[in-house]
Amino acid sequence: MSLPIKAAIAPVTPLAQNCTIVWCTKTNRAAIIDPGGEVPRLLDALTQYGLTLEKIWITHGHMDHAGGTAALKEATGAPIEGPHPDDAFWIDRMEESGARWGMPEARGFTPDRWLQDGDKVTLGETEWEVFHCPGHTPGHVVFFNREARFAQVGDVLFQGSIGRTDFPRGNHQDLIDSITQKLWPLGDDVAFVPGHGPMSTFGQERKTNPFVADAVLAR
Ligand SMILES: [Zn+2]
Ligand SMILES: [Zn+2]
Repeated sequence: MSLPIKAAIAPVTPLAQNCTIVWCTKTNRAAIIDPGGEVPRLLDALTQYGLTLEKIWITHGHMDHAGGTAALKEATGAPIEGPHPDDAFWIDRMEESGARWGMPEARGFTPDRWLQDGDKVTLGETEWEVFHCPGHTPGHVVFFNREARFAQVGDVLFQGSIGRTDFPRGNHQDLIDSITQKLWPLGDDVAFVPGHGPMSTFGQERKTNPFVADAVLAR
């Protein structure tokens, strides 16, 4: 059996954000998830893998995840899907935060499609599910391919950690609820790319994560 999708991680920006190129192996049509910056490098990677960009998917409105979105859309014409509209205030302040954090090329944009919990997005012949996972930001979404048991979770969950909730409109309890009520039910075998750092699985984090392991939350 061949895999329906493949993924390549390309860390971008001074924050080493895990921009991910995912593609449908039948059609070689790709989505770039969270193009925080370094857009020429991402375009080179598409060429190198022989892929056509079909979608730009955004997990949340932070500049290290979304600062290159406008430039990538201008270069390719691909539509922008996500995040959830509750992150509009982050996108609106993108340029201001970019200037402050040493990413002067970060620019705001308007998504072609805002995403809601339960939405489906397509890529080539594959279908992905969207989960609204607030807490780190109020409009954070997660992209999940059920067939491949693969999720891109942005800054919701990391190997051994969870997203920060000390930003404006962050909420710790919302984040814990997002992880335990939206992600865990997808299955222990699901492999995920976090916004920063190495990949893991939900099962691994339920066993060992010091913030959200089952044993920690039961205390
Ligand atoms: Zn973030
Ligand atoms: Zn991040």
